[in-house]
Amino acid sequence: MTQTVEERRAAMALARQRREVELVEREALAPGVARFVFALRDGAPLHAAPGQYVNLHLGPKGTLSRSYSLSAAGGPEGDRFELGVTRVEGGEGSTALHDLELGARIALDGPWGVFTRDRADAAAPRLYVATGTGLTPIRAMLERDLAQPEGPPITLLFGCRHAEDRLWPDEWEARAAAQRRFRYEVTLSRAGDDWDGRRGYVQRHLADVLARFDEAPHAFVCGLRRMIDAVRAELKETHGFDRKRIHTERYD
Ligand SMILES: Cc1cc2nc3c(=O)[nH]c(=O)nc-3n(C[C@H](O)[C@H](O)[C@H](O)COP(=O)(O)OP(=O)(O)OC[C@H]3O[C@@H](n4cnc5c(N)ncnc54)[C@H](O)[C@@H]3O)c2cc1C
Repeated sequence: MTQTVEERRAAMALARQRREVELVEREALAPGVARFVFALRDGAPLHAAPGQYVNLHLGPKGTLSRSYSLSAAGGPEGDRFELGVTRVEGGEGSTALHDLELGARIALDGPWGVFTRDRADAAAPRLYVATGTGLTPIRAMLERDLAQPEGPPITLLFGCRHAEDRLWPDEWEARAAAQRRFRYEVTLSRAGDDWDGRRGYVQRHLADVLARFDEAPHAFVCGLRRMIDAVRAELKETHGFDRKRIHTERYD
């Protein structure tokens, strides 16, 4: 969707405003990770691009501002949006969010961010790499990518510790079964003996996953700094990626 200068200015002005949102749904996604659905009380849409994030003002008097990527929607059509958030041990912001009661109202600003797949040529193949809740903005991007029946090859390489930590696994498996251009690859860093899939950190599997692309993809990488640094180094040094083909969103 192309915006005029006036539309962009209006969207920026709305993003800077603090808007009231209400927690309307919450469910467990994995141990320590929950899906949150918020509704904007003013009824106006968020107008977010897939991959963007919002800042939530949490804690007493909203003094803890924390960023969370949208895992779905937030587009021009809806006044609701979804997040997927890890409860960090000892973390004030994520604990305050997980402890919110249904119906609680808090403030938000945004959407913000340039981790959007519009930064790549729409026809370019894409490799998405995520660990943990780094998958949330990628889910929003994939929702839009895979809404089109035809398009470039796309692979999602996802890493987590245990099988039960996988986020939305049924959804990815169903999408991979329905669309041949989409591959879903999971690796577990602390797999049990009963796991017969990939093991170890995501960076260990890049060579194998990249070998299946006919043309070098754009890489979109999201999660904690240590993983992002390792993946970026591997893509550049071992696979000769230009930095313009590597797009990252760091959570810490
Ligand atoms: C642009 C952006 C988007 C983000 N989107 C998400 C999101 O969609 N979902 C989400 O869960 N978090 C997301 N985060 C992280 C989030 O903003 C907070 O940093 C996180 O909730 C921890 O805040 P805290 O106050 O609980 O802990 P703090 O005391 O502020 O942080 C403690 C430590 O927690 C670690 N940490 C931060 N995020 C995570 C995580 N997701 N999983 C494990 N450890 C983590 C970091 O190492 C950090 O140093 C995002 C961060 C940024 C900058």
